[in-house]
Amino acid sequence: MTLAAYFSPVVHRLVPYVPGEQPKIAKLVKLNTNENPYPPSPQVVSAITRAAHQGLQLYPDPESSALRQAIAAHHGLTAQQVFLGNGSDEVLAHAFFAFFQHACPLLMPDISYSFYQVYCTLYGIEVHTVPLTDELRLRVTDYARTAAQAVAGVVIANPNAPTGIGLPLADIETLLQLHPSRVVLVDEAYVDFGGQSAIALIERYPNLLVVHTLSKSRSLAGLRIGYACGQSHLIDALQRVKNSFNCYPLDRLAMVGGVAAFADVAYFEQTRQAVMSSREGLTLALEDLGFTVLPSQANFLLARHPLWDAAVLAADLRSRGVLVRHFMLPRIEQYLRISVGTPAQCDHLVQALAELLAQR
Ligand SMILES: *Cc1c(COP(=O)(O)O)cnc(C)c1O
Repeated sequence: MTLAAYFSPVVHRLVPYVPGEQPKIAKLVKLNTNENPYPPSPQVVSAITRAAHQGLQLYPDPESSALRQAIAAHHGLTAQQVFLGNGSDEVLAHAFFAFFQHACPLLMPDISYSFYQVYCTLYGIEVHTVPLTDELRLRVTDYARTAAQAVAGVVIANPNAPTGIGLPLADIETLLQLHPSRVVLVDEAYVDFGGQSAIALIERYPNLLVVHTLSKSRSLAGLRIGYACGQSHLIDALQRVKNSFNCYPLDRLAMVGGVAAFADVAYFEQTRQAVMSSREGLTLALEDLGFTVLPSQANFLLARHPLWDAAVLAADLRSRGVLVRHFMLPRIEQYLRISVGTPAQCDHLVQALAELLAQR
């Protein structure tokens, strides 16, 4: 008997997601996992510190009512239209379980957030990938299907990851109208950096689920908070799944930290504007070095150099203390995904690249 015989058979088939490196060495310029380069609002830190002294021996509110209310108010929704999870990855997993397990394929772009495929393998959901255009853009008419071609739903990231390219709301509406009897999931992890949110469409589309995270634009990747917005019947389905899995995905500290993050509007505005302005500066600097940079509405850039192999560049940058992400995936293996850092971090990257490219 091999020790793997202890496993449930499905475990052999899983292909887990591999997150970007979280280096143990300090001092690296970390531009590889799209974290916010700024710390969270000081109000978040003091709210968490206060809460740490108040009742950690008690379970948290299983409904996360205070945070749901704060998020609902921010988006002009009701609390019944908001679902919370332990990071948006957990929200996505519950949504795939709740909405996409039909005996027909789920549609998604060939280049997108690679966790989607991982959930499909976990839950046995068949996938049909729809190729992006040669310019790595999503063309919504490619998602049309005949009546005989049933689909389980559609999932996209908007702006897309790792391209950074955003879709206008009119295109999201087209997707919703193409598949009125299935859920269209729009993952808006990066929308606060310049994209158009589909939350405005929720009132009109019973098949729309929009997923957000506090990990990127609110600098809280370490706290693990994500949420979904949709009409209340979709939220009810997610609650059923969640309460069949873990009634307390958000702990007491995350709950108060999340509420404080939404309360500090000024800090949110200031930091997201800073990231967007660094993004524009970094785009120009990379273009000056000869890179082709896709137009990004996110906190990262996807860029390639016509003369340099991307894997070589990534390895060389690492030896110079700069981490970026390189995906060994078809169509994008010659690109680097570079998270937008502080102005000092961006300068460091550009300096390192300039030295490296000068070697040839
Ligand atoms: C970062 C990211 C997530 C996951 O965010 P968490 O809330 O930290 O789990 C989800 N979707 C996309 C497209 C992302 O880039």
